[in-house]
Amino acid sequence: MQTEGTMYRPPVEANTFVFQVAAGCTHNKCKFCTMFRDKKFHLIKEDVLRSNLAEVKEYYGRYGLKLERIFLDDGDVFSLSADKLENIINQIREYFPELKEITMYAAVRSLKHKSDEDLLRLKDLGVNDLYIGYESGVDDCLMFMNKGHNTEESIRQAERLNQVGIRHHALLIIGMAGKGRAEESGMAAARLINQIKPGIVLLTTLSVFDDSDLKQEIINNNFTEAKEKEILTEELVLLDNINDGNIYFWASHSLNSVPMEGYIYKDRENMRRKLQYAIENIDEETFAQQLKRERL
Ligand code: SF4
Repeated sequence: MQTEGTMYRPPVEANTFVFQVAAGCTHNKCKFCTMFRDKKFHLIKEDVLRSNLAEVKEYYGRYGLKLERIFLDDGDVFSLSADKLENIINQIREYFPELKEITMYAAVRSLKHKSDEDLLRLKDLGVNDLYIGYESGVDDCLMFMNKGHNTEESIRQAERLNQVGIRHHALLIIGMAGKGRAEESGMAAARLINQIKPGIVLLTTLSVFDDSDLKQEIINNNFTEAKEKEILTEELVLLDNINDGNIYFWASHSLNSVPMEGYIYKDRENMRRKLQYAIENIDEETFAQQLKRERL
């Protein structure tokens, strides 16, 4: 298969076939993100797409496998117009007529540019389980990080998805509001989650990569990172204040210091005990030496 650069997918899609149909991110401006800095957003050429599809079809055929679910990569495929997405999905179906579900990352700003008719059309084509990088429920933090949306827009777009019946999941970054804002940020994230009603909340922790714009902001004293106790307190506040018991809380990212996951309705108490234990016992200095958040 011919692919371009590093590809990413949500950890909970580890068993889904990841297929690159576009490279990079149209936004590429979030201060904390370095994922696609080396790529300019573009579609993968049709001949490459078809040659990759033929190769995958041959492999699946050899082992008698069916491809029923696919994750479209890179980070910003949903920014393509509904027509372009339909065209790509139809091409994939030529090779895999059994395909049922098509999932991908989606940005709030990309949702904004789709009409309700577009969303319904995409749903009918099998598009479901959109992973949306809300990151935070604190507006000044979203603005500082150049995220390209605010919470009001996040809520509006999630409500549209709920109306048309496309499942969606929330990506959040704890610690993103910086030092001294654990309670505020945790509560804001919980309010956001309670309004947007995602299926899964996926949590990672703010990591300052050397080549990020955020690193420069820290050097210029424009941002101060929260320490681990604060970060875990924010997570606890969020966990405690989610209303919907059916949400799956996934915080097992390698960048999280207390990996855990489970359903709110049955696993919340166990998860909060783990967080509380860590908050009470963590030695910040030893911790800082041991956990280096240097790459995704
Ligand atoms: S966080 Fe998402 S939207 Fe922001 S630059 Fe990275 S890939 Fe693009």
